[in-house]
This record gives sequence, structure tokens and C-alpha cells, in this order.
Amino acid sequence: MQFARRAEMITPSSTLAITAKANELKASGFDVIGLGAGQPDFNTPEFIIDAATEAAQAGHTKYTPSAGLPELKDAIIKKLKRDQGFDYERNQIIVGNGAKHVLYLLFQALLNPSDEVIIPAPYWVSYTEQVKLAGGVPITIETSERDHFKITVADLEKAVTAKTKAVLINSPSNPTGMIYSKEELEPIAEFCVKHDLVIISDEIYEKLVYNGNCFFSIAQLSESVKAQTVVVNGVSKSHSMTGWRIGYAAADAALIQAMTNIASHSTSNPASVSQYAAIAAYNGPQESIETMRQAFEQRLNTIYPRLVNLPGVTCVKPQGAFYLFPNIRPLSDACGFSCVTDWVKALLDEEKVAVVPGAGFGMPDYIRLSYATSLDNLEKALDRIEHFIKEHT
Ligand code: PLP
Repeated sequence: MQFARRAEMITPSSTLAITAKANELKASGFDVIGLGAGQPDFNTPEFIIDAATEAAQAGHTKYTPSAGLPELKDAIIKKLKRDQGFDYERNQIIVGNGAKHVLYLLFQALLNPSDEVIIPAPYWVSYTEQVKLAGGVPITIETSERDHFKITVADLEKAVTAKTKAVLINSPSNPTGMIYSKEELEPIAEFCVKHDLVIISDEIYEKLVYNGNCFFSIAQLSESVKAQTVVVNGVSKSHSMTGWRIGYAAADAALIQAMTNIASHSTSNPASVSQYAAIAAYNGPQESIETMRQAFEQRLNTIYPRLVNLPGVTCVKPQGAFYLFPNIRPLSDACGFSCVTDWVKALLDEEKVAVVPGAGFGMPDYIRLSYATSLDNLEKALDRIEHFIKEHT
């Protein structure tokens, strides 16, 4: 059977692929340590689960408005006011099935064929594929370890064309953990306003920042910047709720309406009970976020020195999210592999440690390790990596 070109032009998510392979090995009885996960290893806080249970028992199991319950929009509006001082109206908010879905709706609503979206590399694997699915063209800007994987206006000047529609900023970043400061965002925002470009600000790791680093949203710079920005966020990472599938966008009302129209003919509303859970998450106590943040910070500070001590490995210390993104090309060469992806495959086969090759993030000399697992597991994984290196050098 011949499938549509759009199905053939995208590559499956490499992060999900490695997790699937690791799970397969686990199911066959192997003691696999998975450092591929893109989700917190904590349970959803109990009061959030209770809110969902109560909602289901109270009969809130029916369709809701496609863009989400008004009460959830209000909880999101309150969160945005509390955390960033933003003022948004209900018609400027859409709730979708996770931030991933919201981004999908955004590109569908925004892009005409051959419209370009500037995406700094390394990037989260779905951005480029979602742009392509919407008929757009991802224009990636390669960044370097030296520049802490951040773009500047000079990079944007080189990448912008008459077809550029939007610039994507993901801070804290998956996979690098880097955070843009207010000072770094200012010229980028100015550039976007001058060229009338939509700013897409993926803030899903907002709450997970470490060692005194601070999150700053580009939309906080001014009202004119905010007017051109689509703020994307959700409960997946902040409240350890990846499976509930609730994310949102806050933006210009006309754009939100266009996204809502597309949702209304595709997915309709996100699961009603998940929406009630998200209301509790945003309106309830926020202490569990800090507990989780501290655990991630401790893991990062424990594991990072060990990682950069490995021969042939360099890594900028992440400021947020829960990933490390080391360059291991010299190490992979020293181990006799022709590419980092082969090194990753051999590590999983021989030592049963799953990490994600950097190729899917646009940087083939790197790997991504997630520290969303216990310190014990992380220490064991590094022991195994050290053993692997000894065997191959
Ligand atoms: N944006 C980034 C940078 C991510 O890493 C992820 C998930 O891994 C998402 C968005 C999607 O999150 P959600 O679970 O809300 O769809």
C-alpha cells in the first residue's frame, strides 16, 4: 500500500524508540538501566489523583469545550499571573493533549506550504517533524558547546528569509538544559518584533532549574513581545503528569481560535478527568514541585563530575530540565566505533544501559542522558559505562 508522503517524510521519535528497545530487553528479563526517559520518575502528587477520582465519581466524564474547561483556563491564567505577572483572557488560552499536541495545533494553524520556522539545534525531536507535517520548512541553526548551545541575533540574521514565520525558543532546553537569560532574550525578541516573527516559547521545563539559575519568559520583556509570543507549557514535567496529557498555549486570541477550530475537528477536548486533575495541580499546593526539583538538583550535582571525568567526554553543566548532553565523539572514536549511534547501540547490547543518540536532536556527536531516575541507578549506569570504556579501549 502507498502511504501519504507526509507519513513517509517524518522520522519516528528517537527518544521513544530507545525507550521501547530498553523496555523490550527489560521484559526479556535483562537488568536494564534506562537513561532515555523524558519524564520525571516521581508519582503524580496524591491530591491531584484524588481530584481526578472525585471528578470521575461526580460524573465529569463527558465532552468539554474543545479548548478546555473554563475552570482550567482560569487556573492557567492564575498560574501565569502568579509566576510571570502575565494578564491573559480565557480566549487567549487553549488546553490540549500535552504540550506536544498544542505545538502540533500551533504549526497546523500557523504555517502555509514552505513557510519557515527557525529552530536552534540541538532541538527537541518533535519540532522539526511537526513543522514538516504542517507543510513548513524547519530551518535549524547549529549552536556550539562554546556558546552554551544558544543562538544570537547574528545567527538569526543569517537564517531569516522572506518566508520565515516563527522562531522557536526552548528554555530550559531539552536536550542541553541551557537557560536563556533576560539579557540574552532581549535582542532576540527585538529581532522578532522588527521582522514580525511569531515567537514560540516552549517553557515546559520552567520549574526545573538548578543551582541558583532562574527561568525568564521571553514574553515578560514587554507587551509588544508578549503579543507576538505563543507561550507553551503544561503539567507533564512540573507536576509529574506525563500520562495525563495536559498542556496549554497562551497567545493572541485569533491564533488560539484557529488552533481551537483544528482541535475541534481532530481530537476535541483533552480527557475531562485529566483536566480536573490539572485544575488541582495549578490551584493546589505547589510544594511537590520543589521536592522534585531538589532531588533532580542533587542528582545533577552528583553525577555531572563523574560524567565529565570520563576520557573523551565534554559537557556543559545543565542549568535546568533533567538531561545531560555530552559530546562523546572523541570517546566513541577511541572505542573504535564509526559513529556515536553505534556506540549507543553497543552500550545497550553489552552493558544494558539505554541513552539516546544525539542524531535525533540534530547533533550526532552527542548523547542525551536523562537523570529522571534514582541516584543509585545513575551511579550504577556510570559504573557500567566505565566498564564498557575499559573493554573497548
Ligand atoms: N517540549 C519539550 C521540550 C519536551 O521535552 C516535551 C516532552 O518531552 C514536550 C514539549 C511535550 O510535553 P507533553 O508531555 O506536555 O506533551
